[in-house]
Amino acid sequence: AFEGLSEKLSAAFKRLKSKGKLSEADIKEAMREVRLALLEADVSYKVTKDFVSKVSERAVGAQVLESLTPAQQVIKIVNEELTALMGNESARLNSPAKPPAVIMMCGLQGSGKTTHSAKLARMLKGQGRRPLLVACDVYRPAAIKQLQVVGEKAGVPVFEMGNDNPIKIAKKAVSHARDYGNDVVILDTAGRLHIDETLMGELQGIKKEVEPTDILLVIDSMTGQDAVNVAKSFDDALGIDGVILTKLDGDTRGGAALSVKAVTGKPIKFVGMGEKLEDLEPFHPARMASRILGMGDVLSLIEKAQEHIDEKNAEEMAKKLKENSFDLNDLLAQMQQIKKMGPLQQVMSMLPGAAKAIKDEDAEKGEQQLKQMESIICSMTPRERERPQIINPSRKRRIAAGSGTEVPDVNRLLKQFEQMQKMMKQLGGMGKKGKRRRMPM
Ligand code: GDP
Ligand code: MG
Repeated sequence: AFEGLSEKLSAAFKRLKSKGKLSEADIKEAMREVRLALLEADVSYKVTKDFVSKVSERAVGAQVLESLTPAQQVIKIVNEELTALMGNESARLNSPAKPPAVIMMCGLQGSGKTTHSAKLARMLKGQGRRPLLVACDVYRPAAIKQLQVVGEKAGVPVFEMGNDNPIKIAKKAVSHARDYGNDVVILDTAGRLHIDETLMGELQGIKKEVEPTDILLVIDSMTGQDAVNVAKSFDDALGIDGVILTKLDGDTRGGAALSVKAVTGKPIKFVGMGEKLEDLEPFHPARMASRILGMGDVLSLIEKAQEHIDEKNAEEMAKKLKENSFDLNDLLAQMQQIKKMGPLQQVMSMLPGAAKAIKDEDAEKGEQQLKQMESIICSMTPRERERPQIINPSRKRRIAAGSGTEVPDVNRLLKQFEQMQKMMKQLGGMGKKGKRRRMPM
């Protein structure tokens, strides 16, 4: 998601940075480009206009123009305003006065309600909760079956009463949850192709009967500006507590993510990043803004890594990075860990500078390169990995032959490692100054 927007914004900023000292006209020109980029990403006209005028107002301030790094200051302002546009703080689920919490999922047909009911159930179960999934979509027999299938995958029980009245089902499910110690009830409701009165009437009925702790609107980010109109209608008719924005893994242009909060005043609470049950992330405005600006989403990457990397190993690596004793043995171990984290493209898209839009073929190439690097390092002796300086031309020939590569490949790897070490040194230095972040653009 967001590739087009990221690309256009970084192009605009690159031009700005190439200028050094900035005039008001330079900023005006950059803001024109930001405006076009947002409109093309399907952000509504009004949201775009407000955003650009806020950024412009701050950017033409004397402090920015006279600073030593005016372009960086402008980027910083855009980053902050993007974060604010998406709601600043990350929004969490509401807590009930007394259990169970009731989460009502609503939205149009195909938006991802059933999938995300199960994703949410899985996530909550992982946090030690005892969720109950409830089949309130009674109009298609297949809908109940679908919920049962994903419920089983999530290891969460599913409550159903066939095609009985959804309002009655919801009520019964909540008392069932009380009796059986389920502390979260997730209602998977029916959707329609379009918003209509019958759908809203039924949802209002359920709301009145069970007083949900959270009414979450599930919207498909691929539907662009339409998604935002849908959000507005649901909020007007039902009063939603938040949004789950789905299919952000596709090539959506991103408009919905940027506009929902501004248009409805309601936060995005979660985003769906794929069809699998683990593809659900809490929504963090600041991280999303950095992702859009190509500054990478290092925090999400770290969280993802923590799921897959054992802690002891990670601690050891962190220590080595600090002491600058990270060698090729460690790099090899890290590369093997990265492979465990999933397809390279997904991992790479969270790294700083990823705005250049990593294409599938690039990721494939990257995958091959990783393999090649791995076999080159494997062909070194442990001593060589510890002290790459000792790798002379004859050792290089031996390593190339051993790994089925050429000497220039070995040279390239050594050079890359050297640069990596330099970068780590910088990062290490930064850590000491506290949390201050440098913009890697
Ligand atoms: P519902 O009609 O609102 O219940 O929607 P479903 O949960 O049945 O989802 C509709 C389709 O979208 C299914 O094929 C899902 O696999 C797919 N889907 C749901 N969420 C995501 C997501 O985050 N990413 C992708 N790529 N597909 C999704
Ligand atoms: Mg469904």
